[in-house]
Amino acid sequence: MRIIENITEMQSWSEQSRLQGDRIVLVPTMGALHEAHLQLIREGRKRGDRLVFSIFVNPIQFSPNEDFTAYTRDLDGDLMLLEGEGVHVLFCPRTEAVYPSGFQTQVEVRELGRFLCGASRPGHFQGVATVVAKLFNMVRPQVAVFGLKDYQQYLIVRRLVEDLNFEIEIVGCPIVREADGLAMSSRNRYLNREEKKAALCLSRALRKAQDLVRQGTRDGEGILQEVRAEITREPLVHLEYLRLCDPKSLEDVETIEGEALLALAVQIGRARLIDNSLLGE
Ligand code: AMP
Repeated sequence: MRIIENITEMQSWSEQSRLQGDRIVLVPTMGALHEAHLQLIREGRKRGDRLVFSIFVNPIQFSPNEDFTAYTRDLDGDLMLLEGEGVHVLFCPRTEAVYPSGFQTQVEVRELGRFLCGASRPGHFQGVATVVAKLFNMVRPQVAVFGLKDYQQYLIVRRLVEDLNFEIEIVGCPIVREADGLAMSSRNRYLNREEKKAALCLSRALRKAQDLVRQGTRDGEGILQEVRAEITREPLVHLEYLRLCDPKSLEDVETIEGEALLALAVQIGRARLIDNSLLGE
């Protein structure tokens, strides 16, 4: 695995690979790796010839009161996990190179960025869309792989690829969970034992919603009430949002017709966690 920090070097590597006819797959992450990141790599490997894995903790997607400084940086641990996964390039550009002085351009996916995490984290998705567009220009992949745990991010990236004419296929990978149901996240490292146990109410609540829909419930408010009850029962968990929405537009839905996305965000101790499930169909 070659490690590239320099943006120009990354671009020439990609240019060479493209000239050889290779299909480049990008898996962008912020590091602090866990099994879900490795699943993205395995999916990516099937989709092309050369896999670029990027690690970049993107400052502009964090607001000042968020965990940018505290976010886990563990390159040695990450390198160990990447061992044997068939990654061709680990791309970890420096912050000053990605955002040199004078940088002032932002990408905004207006409508999709308004809902869910966009409502509670102003500026977050502009930061995400901007860095993703930049990574696409630095790595020039034909395929990029994203996780559906960040479902809204996945939709936003698809939209930006369409709107900005990037010729990149966007692949979404299912949520990877611990055996107990907790969706894997780098931020799970912030949880102590008690908080980790409390966090199980998220997947429990989503499963409850799935059961209700399987049994024929279509009334959105009824489902949301059950899910809310499951979560508010845990005193350590503070619900930030809970929404039942259209899986394409993210507009709220009142009655499930076809498929709906149930999405939520909570705060537990120092960790802000998100989870979701598609219901119906
Ligand atoms: P992050 O490093 O947390 O920014 O995540 C990098 C990529 O991994 C994003 O596309 C995430 O959606 C994806 N990802 C993180 N956790 C999970 C998970 N539990 N299941 C599926 N994808 C995930």
